[in-house]
Amino acid sequence: MQQTCFLSVVVPMYNEEEVIEVTYNRLKVVLDKLGETYEIVFVNDGSRDKTTHIVRGICAVDHTVKLVDFSRNFGHQIAVTAGMDHSSGRTVVLIDADLQDPPELITDMVARWREGYDVVYGKRIDRKGESWFKKFTAAMFYRLLRSMTSVNIPVDTGDFRLMDRKVCDALTSMRERSRFIRGMVSWAGFKQTSVDYVRDERFAGETKYPLRKMIRLSLDAMTSFSTRPLKIASILGFVLSAVGFVYLFIVLYQRIFTDTTTQGWTSMIAISLLFHGITLSLLGVLGEYIGRTYEESKGRPLYLVAEAVNFSTSAEPSREREAITK
Ligand code: UDP
Ligand code: MG
Repeated sequence: MQQTCFLSVVVPMYNEEEVIEVTYNRLKVVLDKLGETYEIVFVNDGSRDKTTHIVRGICAVDHTVKLVDFSRNFGHQIAVTAGMDHSSGRTVVLIDADLQDPPELITDMVARWREGYDVVYGKRIDRKGESWFKKFTAAMFYRLLRSMTSVNIPVDTGDFRLMDRKVCDALTSMRERSRFIRGMVSWAGFKQTSVDYVRDERFAGETKYPLRKMIRLSLDAMTSFSTRPLKIASILGFVLSAVGFVYLFIVLYQRIFTDTTTQGWTSMIAISLLFHGITLSLLGVLGEYIGRTYEESKGRPLYLVAEAVNFSTSAEPSREREAITK
């Protein structure tokens, strides 16, 4: 797409009626100070509250604001992707709608980009107002992911980042469904650096990432960046059958050469439960990969847009449409 401005800010929203206006105002102050041309691309990810209504109101008076309105909820990572597809800036910033990522940091990010970096990601040095459970699981997840993958995904970063157009284009050219954007950015390479920040409390409303979605995101991350779980599965299978064989010989030896009567039931049940449990969970690991392969093989578009507001026809993005008409 033709570049029409210096900076695009992509904001995914899911039921954010309580925060969206404040977010817009705070972004506006920062962007105006920057003294460059910009656009704000709001992506409504199937909100069921007044979010779209409010953003449409803003669009009517401010033409730097654009809205991509999804036909339903497609998920945060997909919403961010749609925002990138529809953005036209020389640089692109991804930021959450709830003001947990301070918009003021964008100024620093732009400064680092000017120094020649292609990706400037925000690194959380502290997280305010999040439960110890979320902090703990997040910390564990990032470290587990790091140990599982060959891609060097920085610890404690979210999607809050600035990217050069070439990185953004690289990401939007990857049309996989199980998206883990921070991993994809690491995979893409380019010159990357970080700026530290303290992650604030959510300004209002509650998290749109319940445990269920967090687990899903973690599984997506794990399966799209690593096949190590499959390798672990086969190693575990091999080790267990080796142990099984050794035990088989012990049992045979006892039966033939000694007269120890084995009182079998408890050990039989224990072993049977253990092995069945392990077999089933390994099948589950396989299933995670096969399910995702199946999803990808359908080749459906990542999302459907009900309406795009404030995009002039010349700047109308076409990637998804191309995908549909092909
Ligand atoms: N979000 C979205 N679709 C979803 C869930 C979340 O677009 O299905 C958006 C949400 O509106 C917010 C961002 O993704 O702008 C991050 O969500 P949230 O702040 O709830 O996650 P948390 O910060 O608690 O991890
Ligand atoms: Mg948040």
